[in-house]
Amino acid sequence: MTKTIFAANWKMNHGPADARGFLDRFLDGYRQESGREVWFFPPAVSIQSVTQRVARLPGILVGAQNVYWEPKGAFTGELSVSMAKDAGARAVLVGHSERRHVFGETDDDTGRKVRAVLDAAMTPLLCVGETLSERDNAKTLAVIHRQLAALDGLDSESLAQIVVAYEPVWAIGTGKNATPADAGTVHAAIHHWFEERGVAGGSVPVLYGGSVKPENAQELLSEDEIDGVLVGGASLEPKSWQAICAVGLD
Ligand code: PEP
Repeated sequence: MTKTIFAANWKMNHGPADARGFLDRFLDGYRQESGREVWFFPPAVSIQSVTQRVARLPGILVGAQNVYWEPKGAFTGELSVSMAKDAGARAVLVGHSERRHVFGETDDDTGRKVRAVLDAAMTPLLCVGETLSERDNAKTLAVIHRQLAALDGLDSESLAQIVVAYEPVWAIGTGKNATPADAGTVHAAIHHWFEERGVAGGSVPVLYGGSVKPENAQELLSEDEIDGVLVGGASLEPKSWQAICAVGLD
């Protein structure tokens, strides 16, 4: 991988005014570095204000936390891909563990969402990861492969547009992160899955997510198979997020 992606998932935090305040503080002292990208996934209602605030700043991209696959119609409360794009989103989180486990999103749903995002020439950031009991029963790789099977049928050109985040469910918001070596094993399996389907080695970035913070980001990012991080809690505070995005810089 040639670039490192630092992705912030704000979950249900930072409405438009808060988001603008966050960015004022984050961008004060933030240095754009080649080979690094910072992605923000604000709540839908804040996509536009974040997009406006970072417009013309290279290396910063805005995404949506969720979309529905239908283009429009009687789907109260949902957000279409074209609406997200119109508001400024260029990427979409798909299959986040909270969507899967709190809102009951299935592998079939994630597959439809990935296709809808690709059809709009946007980047799906597909989240995969096992629960604690799946891990304890040595099912991690089986679960990852089942979740990746939602992409079956896509050609190698489409697969090459995807970014994946490995987020073990037991590590999200718990303060417990996977070790770099454990994450590295899963990331290698994900890279291999794409290679087997004709996507050039390592060209699909695989991010790690789950209790990343300024204190452990360096160690995780020094693992070869980890191409970036997806961060929830520690991305909510501007200085903590700035510290993560500056990992490895002098
Ligand atoms: C997430 O929500 O994707 C996440 C990784 O959360 P946290 O960093 O808080 O564990």
